[in-house]
Amino acid sequence: MGLLSVLSLAHRWTAERVQPGDIVVDATAGNGVDTLFLSEAAGPRGMVYAFDIQQQALDNTQARLERAVREGKRLAPVRLLLQSHDTLPAALPAAEHGRLAAVLFNLGYLPAEGADPAVITQQSTTLTALEASLALLRPGGLLSIVLYPGHAGGGDEAAAVEQWAQQLDPQLAQAAIYRMLQKPLAPYWIGIEKRKQLQALPAEEII
Ligand code: SAH
Repeated sequence: MGLLSVLSLAHRWTAERVQPGDIVVDATAGNGVDTLFLSEAAGPRGMVYAFDIQQQALDNTQARLERAVREGKRLAPVRLLLQSHDTLPAALPAAEHGRLAAVLFNLGYLPAEGADPAVITQQSTTLTALEASLALLRPGGLLSIVLYPGHAGGGDEAAAVEQWAQQLDPQLAQAAIYRMLQKPLAPYWIGIEKRKQLQALPAEEII
């Protein structure tokens, strides 16, 4: 058996943390692969929010979900949002803040026929959205980020995300990286787990 692909690894980590009834977010719906995966994991009592700034992505995601329902899959309700993922806090009811089990980012451009490859995730909105996601996770929740250093702009964005993850207070969250060392331009993964024991720390250490 070879090494796990980056996407399989992201799904395995997510599957371990998402239970039926959970609230989860796909920050970059794209073609809907992660949205479908999350809606199966959260199940009919759960809730999925899926963001994308392109209608084509939300249409592809909707079609994928409908196909799965026709095949008999039992999915969580999915709210498709045509807006940038940095609007995440305002898009979620206040009662759900601090309760998310997982937020998934799959950066880059929409890999679909006819899609404009120039529409890519941008470093500054990505970082704002990551920071917000971490705040909205429940203790023990997972932030999963697939990074694409191979396209123009992707390398800078990936480096910025890596730097952001590296400087997180380890008392607040733990960050790990999974990367094919002989393939510097291949997609790679950063996983961040929000600490479970925040309440056990003195207040000044978690600010
Ligand atoms: N690169 C991956 C797929 C990524 S899809 C692969 O090759 O499989 C990334 C999606 O993020 C695209 O559909 C794009 O429209 C979306 N996107 C770009 N900027 C965004 C933003 N600010 N908020 C939400 N989605 C965004």
